[in-house]
Amino acid sequence: KKITIAIDGFSSCGKSTMAKDLAREVGYVYVDTGAMYRAVTLYALENNMFLPDGGIDADALRRKMGDIGISFRLNEATGRPDTYLNGERVEDKIRSMEVSDHVSPVAALPFVRSAMVALQQAMGRDKGVVMDGRDIGTTVFPDAELKIYVTASAEVRAQRRFDELKSKGMDADFDDILRNVKERDYIDSHRDVSPLRKADDAIELDNSHMTIAEQKQWLLERFHE
Ligand code: C5P
Repeated sequence: KKITIAIDGFSSCGKSTMAKDLAREVGYVYVDTGAMYRAVTLYALENNMFLPDGGIDADALRRKMGDIGISFRLNEATGRPDTYLNGERVEDKIRSMEVSDHVSPVAALPFVRSAMVALQQAMGRDKGVVMDGRDIGTTVFPDAELKIYVTASAEVRAQRRFDELKSKGMDADFDDILRNVKERDYIDSHRDVSPLRKADDAIELDNSHMTIAEQKQWLLERFHE
């Protein structure tokens, strides 16, 4: 039986939609690990921890890591978990372009990663979980029974992100998003600590030309086989 499901891939590849759908279908907990790195980044932005050159003041953030409480609570209206930072619902704020533009350097800091990985392992311990991110199959749950590595072209991913932000009534500029997607792809796959890469035993899925329903069906089949 598959208890731990790891879904990794580049930004905006649709992995969270697939992961959420599967979790709901099979009654597992869904954990969006990108939301956790985004919440840390929001905290750093709100506490002026970015330097004038755009870099992060790593020492200031390291000192405050113990003050950053991240949790998820089920949103009854959407049936999906919302992200909370120190008790405040930040689900929309963490999706802003400002957070997207600052998150990858924050996620590259070793002390941020070790704190988030510990939290993620605790969230997935002894229960069915579908977790999406960049390093779930390689680092967080190397023993996961099912690992998926999702890919799609940068243009397709930027379009999906654009549509998602628009549907939420948020500001979106396609070229801006495409630039951000490519920039994060590069940083996320070149950082020193657990860079994004396919785990050896992960199944690769290029979903560039698949509908959401097709992806959902494909993942459900992998889960049951
Ligand atoms: O998945 P999402 O695009 O929301 O993730 C935001 C950022 O968080 C990524 O670009 C990456 O820098 C970081 N991240 C990570 N490891 C994870 C999940 C996300 O480094 N497991």
